[in-house]
Amino acid sequence: MVIGWVREVVRRFCVKCGALESPENPIVGGLCLKCLKEEKDLFEVKGSLHLVVCPVCGSYLVGSSWYPGADDAEETIAWLAERLVEQGIKAKEPAEEVELVSVRTRKMRGGKYVAEVTARVSVKGHWIEQTQIIPLNVEKRVCEKCLKKSGGDYDATLQIRSERGTVTQEELREAGEWFSKVNNGDDIVDFVERREGLDVLLASKEVAKRAAQLMRYNMGAKVVESHSVVGMSRDGRVRTRLTLSVRIPSIKEGEGFLLDKEPAILTGIYKGKFHYYLLHSDKNGSLAVDDWWSMRKSKRIVYLNEKNLDVGRIVSLNPLKVEVGSRELEAEGPVGLQEGQEVYVVIYKGKVYVLPKTR
Ligand SMILES: [Zn+2]
Ligand SMILES: [Zn+2]
Repeated sequence: MVIGWVREVVRRFCVKCGALESPENPIVGGLCLKCLKEEKDLFEVKGSLHLVVCPVCGSYLVGSSWYPGADDAEETIAWLAERLVEQGIKAKEPAEEVELVSVRTRKMRGGKYVAEVTARVSVKGHWIEQTQIIPLNVEKRVCEKCLKKSGGDYDATLQIRSERGTVTQEELREAGEWFSKVNNGDDIVDFVERREGLDVLLASKEVAKRAAQLMRYNMGAKVVESHSVVGMSRDGRVRTRLTLSVRIPSIKEGEGFLLDKEPAILTGIYKGKFHYYLLHSDKNGSLAVDDWWSMRKSKRIVYLNEKNLDVGRIVSLNPLKVEVGSRELEAEGPVGLQEGQEVYVVIYKGKVYVLPKTR
């Protein structure tokens, strides 16, 4: 009896709620686990919870650089807060370990932000969950790009043009696809539609250059670069604006042309080259984009609609015969021609060649 009574006395109890210590409910610092998590912070978030977010585009600042965030500033804040909490969370005595469960970001009345952080902590081998409200220091600052945009200011113009004089919807669509590989549209300040094509005003010279290079490499476009002085920057340096004229060739895959008067078919434009097949030499060849354009300029490459060529009609395929006026001629031509098809007729080194008439 007496011994039992003594044992009751030495069993510890919670000073707050009076609960007796047991293996499931240890007393730590005079408190049971339930009271401990009410009375004491069992984890903390170390490191800075200072978030700088652009209210216009949702980008965020780290050091001196802006990074793209979510489209919406509130989403960026929530995502960033979660990341900072994840990185900074630490168990606090007497807790030994911590596992993050959730972070909910809330905007309080008056515009302050808090993170409602729930974590599991272990105390003497028992895991308990605790939620803390942690203030966030959210600063909304308009990023550099948005500042430029708001002033309607831009650093580069990408002029989409065609050799033909006007740009087709199909060409614009293709150019747009290459553009989207470089930029998601964040850097576009404005579009200006012009009779001869489209001007894309951009906040970044780098984006303009990379987009133009892709159009040159994959579409065979001729790119002409020019600079103009537009004023002084805040730090007193001369500010220039870059203009990149991107001229899309008017010839398409499968169309004929003359290379040094020899009939040829364009087999494709890819990897920075025009690829072709020469009908008389029976040879495949290729020309780098810049070489193609300089040969266009010197008229060594001529498109068929630029010459005053005879137009005929295919009357048979095997043997290949073409009707020109009232005459019927045996000819040579590329594969894929059809009976009844309209063709250009080219005489080269005494032989008759036909090439598809596409325009
Ligand atoms: Zn208690
Ligand atoms: Zn912004």
